[in-house]
Amino acid sequence: MFELLKTDTTSLARLGRLTTTHGVVETPVFMPVGTQASVKALDPRELDECGTQIILGNTYHLHIRPGMDTIKQAGGLHRFMNWTKPILTDSGGFQVFSLAKIRKIKAHGVEFRSHLDGSLLFLGPKESMEIQRVLGSDIAMVFDDCPPHTATAREVRAAVERTIRWAGECREQPSADGQLVFGIVQGGAHAALREECAKAITALKFDGYAIGGVSVGEPEPEMMSAVEYAVPHLPEDQPRYAMGLGTPAQLVELVARGVDMFDCVLPTRVARNGTAFTRRGAVSAKGGMFKADFRPIEEGCECFACQRFTRAYLRHLLNVNEILGLRMVSVHNSFFFAKVMSDMRAHLQAGTFGEFRREFIATYVPTSRVLAQRKGAKPVDETRGEE
Ligand SMILES: [Zn+2]
Repeated sequence: MFELLKTDTTSLARLGRLTTTHGVVETPVFMPVGTQASVKALDPRELDECGTQIILGNTYHLHIRPGMDTIKQAGGLHRFMNWTKPILTDSGGFQVFSLAKIRKIKAHGVEFRSHLDGSLLFLGPKESMEIQRVLGSDIAMVFDDCPPHTATAREVRAAVERTIRWAGECREQPSADGQLVFGIVQGGAHAALREECAKAITALKFDGYAIGGVSVGEPEPEMMSAVEYAVPHLPEDQPRYAMGLGTPAQLVELVARGVDMFDCVLPTRVARNGTAFTRRGAVSAKGGMFKADFRPIEEGCECFACQRFTRAYLRHLLNVNEILGLRMVSVHNSFFFAKVMSDMRAHLQAGTFGEFRREFIATYVPTSRVLAQRKGAKPVDETRGEE
C-alpha cells in the first residue's frame, strides 16, 4: 500500500509511493481541496494538467448538500464529479467543531445545527464512516475532536481522549471496497499529549496517520513543534499527513520534518483575490506594476496560464472581474503547488533535497512581507524585479 522509496540524509524527508483503488500517488504530495465536489474554478482536465494526483472532498458539506441519496444514485463521489484519480475525504469533525452552530458533544458523536438551514444533525464515528463509504473515497479519515488553538490544556486532553475513543469506534465500522482509513493524532502544542495520542492511535493499526489540530490559528513555530512532537511516534513505513497545511515554504519545511501528504485551500482561495505564487513569494496580480508587463506570471512556468497569457492581460481580467482571470490564477497556483512537490520528489530521488530546501527558503519572500503587501502597502521592488 505504501512504499518508502528513499529517505533524505540531511533531514527526515522521504520519497514514497501510495497505492490506492484509483491509482498511485507519489509522495510528498499536495492535495487541492474540493469542498463541494469541485476544486473551485477548476475542471478535472485542468486539475490533471496542473499535475494533481489526488484531491480532497468534505464529508460535512457533501452530507448537507447534495446529500447521500444523490451521491449514492450517481455511483459515488468519483462518478458524481467525474474525477477518476484518488480522493481523500475528511471526516467532517473539523467542520462540526468549527462551522456548525450550537453543538452538543455526546458519547458517540456531536449533535449540531446545519450552518445552512439550522436543521438538527448528528455526526459521529459511525455516521462519518458510513458517509465516507457512500462517497467511496480512496482514503477515509477517522472522526476526531479538533480543538481550536485557544483551547486550554485540559480541553486538549479531553479532545485527545475523545479522539482516541472515536478512532476505536471508526475502526469497528466497515469501509468501502479497497478504501484506506487514516487515524488522526491530536494533542495541540503539548509534547506529552501528542505522544500519548500517537501511541494510542497507531495501536489501532490504521493505513496511515494524520497530524490534526494544526492550521487552527496557531503561530507557525507552534505548528512546527506539533508536527515534531507527533512524527517520531508514527510508523516509518506508513504515510503521514499534516492536515490543512500550508504555504509553499511551510510545505518544504514540513517535508523536511517527515510529512508526506498535505491539503490546503490556499492556492485556490488566494487566486480568487488575484494573488499568484512564485518562487520569490506571493504577488498580487492586480497590482499596478503589472499594467504593461507582458511577461507571464512566472517566467519558465509551464502551466497553461503562463504559456498563453501575460501579467498585463491577467491583471486586466482580474480588475474587470472577468471569470477567466481568477480561473487562470487558480490554474497557475495549483500548478505551482504541484510543481514544488514534484521538485521535492526529484531532489529526494537525486539526493539533493538539502540544497533544494536551503535555496527555496532563501529565495521565498517571508510571509510578513507578503501580508504587508496584501494589506495594500506599496508593492516592494522584489516582487517586480524577481525574475
Ligand atoms: Zn504558471
